Amino acid sequence: MRPPVLDPLFAGLTALDGIGPKLAELFRALLLPAGSDAALRVRDLLFHLPSGLVDRRRREEVTTAPDGALVTLNLVIDRHRAPERGQGSTPYRVYGRDETGEIALVYFRAQAQWMEKLLPVGEAMLVSGKVEWFNGRPQMVHPDLVIPLAEADTVPLVEPIYPMTAGLSPKVLRKAIAASLARLPALPEWIEPSVVQRQSFVPFAEALRQAHNPADAIDVDRRAAHRRRLAYDELLAGQLALALSRRRMKKAKGRPLAGDGRLTARVTAALPFRLTDAQDMAVAEIVADMAEEDRMLRLLQGDVGAGKTVVALMAMATAAEAGAQSALLAPTEILARQHFNGLAPICEKIGLDIVLLTGRDTGKVRAAKQEAIASGKADIVVGTHALFQESVEYHDLGLVVVDEQHRFGVHQRLSLARKGRSPDLLVMTATPIPRTLVLAAFGDMDVSRLHGKPAGRKPITTVAVPLERLREIVERIAAAVAEGGKVYWVCPLVEESEKSDLMAAEERHRQLAGLFGDLVGLVHGQMPGEEKDAAMAAFKEGRTRIIVATTVIEVGVDVPDATIIVIEHAERFGLAQLHQLRGRVGRGDKPSSCVLLYRAPLGEVAKARLAVMRETEDGFRIAEEDLKLRGEGDLLGTKQSGLPSFRLADLEIHGDLMEIARDDARLVMATDPDLEGPRGEALRVLLYLFGRDDAIRLLRAG
Ligand code: ADP
Ligand code: MG
Repeated sequence: MRPPVLDPLFAGLTALDGIGPKLAELFRALLLPAGSDAALRVRDLLFHLPSGLVDRRRREEVTTAPDGALVTLNLVIDRHRAPERGQGSTPYRVYGRDETGEIALVYFRAQAQWMEKLLPVGEAMLVSGKVEWFNGRPQMVHPDLVIPLAEADTVPLVEPIYPMTAGLSPKVLRKAIAASLARLPALPEWIEPSVVQRQSFVPFAEALRQAHNPADAIDVDRRAAHRRRLAYDELLAGQLALALSRRRMKKAKGRPLAGDGRLTARVTAALPFRLTDAQDMAVAEIVADMAEEDRMLRLLQGDVGAGKTVVALMAMATAAEAGAQSALLAPTEILARQHFNGLAPICEKIGLDIVLLTGRDTGKVRAAKQEAIASGKADIVVGTHALFQESVEYHDLGLVVVDEQHRFGVHQRLSLARKGRSPDLLVMTATPIPRTLVLAAFGDMDVSRLHGKPAGRKPITTVAVPLERLREIVERIAAAVAEGGKVYWVCPLVEESEKSDLMAAEERHRQLAGLFGDLVGLVHGQMPGEEKDAAMAAFKEGRTRIIVATTVIEVGVDVPDATIIVIEHAERFGLAQLHQLRGRVGRGDKPSSCVLLYRAPLGEVAKARLAVMRETEDGFRIAEEDLKLRGEGDLLGTKQSGLPSFRLADLEIHGDLMEIARDDARLVMATDPDLEGPRGEALRVLLYLFGRDDAIRLLRAG
């Protein structure tokens, strides 16, 4: 149950004076992510923080007001000049003066009657806006504040500016926020006192008030103490929620999965290569962790192509040695199938029974597979979400491996944890995530890192080429194909709603097929699963040499002898995605190249992204640069990658608070893990406030 103290903040917006259903819809567009079906609450309005402020305190006189400055003038209105009839495009001018001179107030498409009421001749007015000097004369186009001097002290000269949405006026927004602030209850302090002190945090409600009532530019800076406080609250809620779910997972006592090395030795013998030192080390860490009584919650982080799959296989073989089953969860059909196809031959050699289960299996086939899983005949089960459907029962699930975790949400993580007797969990991620983001996404997980790539890999040459030089690229590809090479050609998805000039994958496919005939394959997201598989298989086996693809190939596809990847409209992709895509090549022993085909002119950010791609292949550096380039503006980037996005915190600016929040959450888990003391109660309020109350449900269930 939500603490009643929060009721005023969880009321719908229509509870506020002057907000009806229509306005509420506008607010919805402003405050919630597109397509969200969450209820819109007063809280969401309060969390909509100013991005800047208007400061009208600069008083000037007409003749000394600098060009381009936002100033406030004391004017007496002199005369009106309406445009001549039929001269609709000339503006309406009102002249005002002070002791030093005259200024024109300029209005486009103004209505005479309304203007006369707004700026009555002879009246003393306070007028605020941007001064422009034009042919030696000052003017102000659409002043943003015009009031009789007598009422001057009724309006604030400093006002916050908010991110806006079309159709909503700043005035309405400010009024609604003021009304929300008036409903803000005093809430119990949930932050550890020593942190409050060290960080000079004001209480939550006070911080919100300060944030919405800036007195000066520093008050809208995200580094201001009250903004840091709010950021910390959000980060703490996140860390606490993660800590609670982690504890829940750990509490359900794991069991030692101790192998005897019998099967892992056979795996290494069956592999066509030797494990790298980094792989050996990761395997050792994982095997040791699995042997512990406590449940394993471990992240295996390694750049694209670092060789995580083999590490997972060693872990699964270890589980099998201990007599337990393993499940390997992949985010897409293609990946699940690829894992299966890659692992099956080795498993066969060493006597492990492996099963592939996806949503595509139905009827008798599915029943047989489920039977193998339930009876314990299957040692390893590879698949998609289908693995964790109600109907799938395991004989004895001991280890769950999740590939490319960032595609999965917290909920999936929880639902898979319920299968089996609290299985060990190994999460593999190829997106190199900076430390702050690891904390944000996974909380306090143990981490194994695979640095570097298997030896003998040749670097990838990356070039950025404007679309006009397409022909050259095609010629190069023709040469490569003639020598037996394989090429990925990636096209961005055409967004249905958007009328775009992007070349659809199908169209590009048609063009290339015109040149290369049936050496060109096509794979895209809308294709039925079987067709996708067939297309990928044909490419892998070399029956096709060029595969035109949408980003369905982004994650994890492994065709080691593909040496060229062309990414069309590279300027439309984010850095992380470009890096993922590029990782499709450079997997074998031949030199590879990546062609970033872009449409000129490039924006600043796109230019910087392509430059980073040319400069480095280091996934960790790319991830850091990505975070920098995205800045706070683009929540979309984080959204798409499935990483958590924040409303009040900006990891780039508030990153230092993340570790503190992590430590604080740890302290809570050590001292009051059930959140029952007075601070625990306050923390429950915090979790609800930030919508992390699913973690509270865990408490109860635990
Ligand atoms: P990722 O970490 O991106 O999942 P994969 O596990 O798909 O990478 O491995 C990429 C490629 O590297 C595969 O073709 C795999 O067989 C190969 N590979 C993995 N480990 C080694 C190694 N130690 N030596 C040589 N090749 C390896
Ligand atoms: Mg992989």
